[in-house]
Amino acid sequence: MNISLSDKLVEHFRLTPIQKTALKKLGLETVDDLLHHFPVRYGDIAKAGNIGTLAKGETAVIFGKITDLKASKGFRTKIPMASGTVEDESGKIHCVWFNQPYLAKMTPEGASVRVEGKVSARRKTGELYLSNPKLEVVDRLPTGVGDSLFNEINSAGAENGAKHTLYPVYSESRGITSLWIYHAIRKIFRSGVLDKVADPLPADIIEKYNLPVLKTALIWIHTPMKNEDALSARKRFSFEEIFLIQLSRQQARAAYEKNPAFAIEPNEKHIQEFVKRFPFKATDAQNRAIANILEDMKGDHPMSRLLEGDVGSGKTAVAATTAYAVITSKPAGQDFGHLQVAYMCPTEILAMQHFQSFIQYFSYMPVRIALITGSGCKIFPSKVNPKGWTDISRAQLLKWIAEGTVAVVIGTHALIQKSVKFKHLAYVIIDEQHRFGMKQRAELVRKNEEGASDSPNRPGEGKAQGAPTPAPHLLSMTATPIPRTLALTIYGDLDLTLLDELPAGRKTIITESVEPAGREETYEKIREELRAGRQAFVICPRIDEPDPEKESALNAKSVKEEAKRLKREVFPEYEIGIMHSKMSSAEKDRVMDTFKRGEIHILCSTSVVEVGVNVPNATVIIIEGAERFGLAQLHQLRGRVMRSSHQAYCYVFIGGNSGGTGGGAGSLGSQRSRDRMHALVTAKNGFELAELDLVQRGAGELSGVRQWGISDVAMEALKNMKMVEAARSEAVRIITKDPTLSGFPGLKNSHFE
Ligand code: ADP
Ligand code: MG
Repeated sequence: MNISLSDKLVEHFRLTPIQKTALKKLGLETVDDLLHHFPVRYGDIAKAGNIGTLAKGETAVIFGKITDLKASKGFRTKIPMASGTVEDESGKIHCVWFNQPYLAKMTPEGASVRVEGKVSARRKTGELYLSNPKLEVVDRLPTGVGDSLFNEINSAGAENGAKHTLYPVYSESRGITSLWIYHAIRKIFRSGVLDKVADPLPADIIEKYNLPVLKTALIWIHTPMKNEDALSARKRFSFEEIFLIQLSRQQARAAYEKNPAFAIEPNEKHIQEFVKRFPFKATDAQNRAIANILEDMKGDHPMSRLLEGDVGSGKTAVAATTAYAVITSKPAGQDFGHLQVAYMCPTEILAMQHFQSFIQYFSYMPVRIALITGSGCKIFPSKVNPKGWTDISRAQLLKWIAEGTVAVVIGTHALIQKSVKFKHLAYVIIDEQHRFGMKQRAELVRKNEEGASDSPNRPGEGKAQGAPTPAPHLLSMTATPIPRTLALTIYGDLDLTLLDELPAGRKTIITESVEPAGREETYEKIREELRAGRQAFVICPRIDEPDPEKESALNAKSVKEEAKRLKREVFPEYEIGIMHSKMSSAEKDRVMDTFKRGEIHILCSTSVVEVGVNVPNATVIIIEGAERFGLAQLHQLRGRVMRSSHQAYCYVFIGGNSGGTGGGAGSLGSQRSRDRMHALVTAKNGFELAELDLVQRGAGELSGVRQWGISDVAMEALKNMKMVEAARSEAVRIITKDPTLSGFPGLKNSHFE
């Protein structure tokens, strides 16, 4: 059979419509995709026990046939459940799954299964059983100790007769099981396609870091003989991914740095005077950031810098001060006019807010400040009202911007429209930069274009003809606290400045991790706040009652139920509203308005309130099922109530519905939960928490693909600063030597945007 990496899977596998959908859902289209669908973990048959010798309290892995499958309801609890009996030659054991009645229907009676879970004993009879164990249907059963399910795997080069006891477990989707993936990959291996794969990593790097070559790594990751091989393969793939990201970022950076910059010679005295005009004293962190940026601006290359600072750390003041340095500088060879600043934000509300702040900061100077959004344009000062702004036609504003007579232009995406042209754009500021793509950033820095020939070099482009116009300095700002390794990777083309200090006088929030017994007392404390006129959030992990399709949803509190319960049992005297992602935006807005007006006292919500919600009168937040949220997310959540001069409180509860049976994360993972809660209570800021979060989270829990476009394998590597630094320095080395990668055809094709 002849298989190529780029072949579509449908060309080689007979697929049902359900399987096609499942593959699509898993993001697997080609043979190469499937080869890069790595196991989430490995099972080890050698570790499997005999049912006859199990003891209470041990964590067992057993293989056997499952029979007596039944779906039922708990006798007293009425919890829907599934049960069955697993049997091997040595004995049988009863298994129960709470809240997962579907398991009884999905698992074929008499199937061979692998079951993993903690052995419990009935209180009265002492009879052993497994509660909520992991259940996998397997191909066939091992026939004795040390035997292998996958004895004949060895097409891929291990010595004959060697035994595999490890087997891969893949993430599945309905219709595509882990086993299907495993067999498909083996079929691909047997085709000999691995002999044709070209390794994108340069040979010297492979050697230097002692990494397996691509072919070996693929074999090791899917069919490892031993754990070390699997680990070494994972290390290779994570290095590769981070290296390739670094490569494209460094390439972009090198291309941008080739542009000449606008030289800005800030006048120290004037800068200090400007900072003094703020209605507050700048923090040390703000002063340091300002100094960093101004230093960059003196250089020959345009600055590319990321300013990372928690919500409320005062990034706007840093942006304004450095903008001041730019607009008080004159274009080269001119003794009149000024350089220009563009300030882009993701929403109109934010743009308007910054427009007003800038007017406040700059109104004593004879400069024009403009706002440009999808719904219109405004300019300051207004002829009729020199202290205020006025609406202006878009055409008029664009003309003034192009003539260079508007000093600062603040706007939304509207700023990057083609028709917007600057004369002397020397400084681009991007607020909440994670909301924009690399592409939008690149478009904004190209706004000086007067003719294609003298526009700044774009990333990946060779040198333009003629003398290019200088490229603007770039400041990206974000409030998303992320670990340093992640920042170095995804923002590899930017230098990093942290604003790791909140302005003095902010009351720090009091965070308490509450034991179940302390629930009543906590409600009383909250009642006091409510009586004093404050408002509260109650965050629940779920919208509806537990979804029986998901084991992880077991016993998590739901917004709808919890709101009813609080009204019925705890706070009958207060108005309780609900909010979650399944509501329309109009509904959400309406609820939010009612909450803002104080007509709802307690808002029971999912984590949708995490971003952007501003209700200063809300001073208390309860987080239920806190173990289900990442630490960074918990921090964002409590940020909701850190917005006023009132003392704010955050109460975190671990675990789900009281009285639930089995599987509650509160008891099982309790040490880890306690560590996490300790971190949340004590961490100084979001960055410290982000680091702790990364260290404490296990593989597969990092959700890198969704959030950052990085695979989970690479996210694991982010725990390793040395590896990230190595990937970065290798990328820098290669790009310095060969910016267009002409000597690295393998890299040229594989690097991604
Ligand atoms: P963010 O970093 O989230 O963008 P902002 O720049 O919006 O924060 O600042 C949040 C608030 O803090 C604003 O009202 C701002 O005026 C105020 N602020 C900024 N810096 C300081 C400071 N050094 N001392 C006191 N208040 C400050
Ligand atoms: Mg801000």
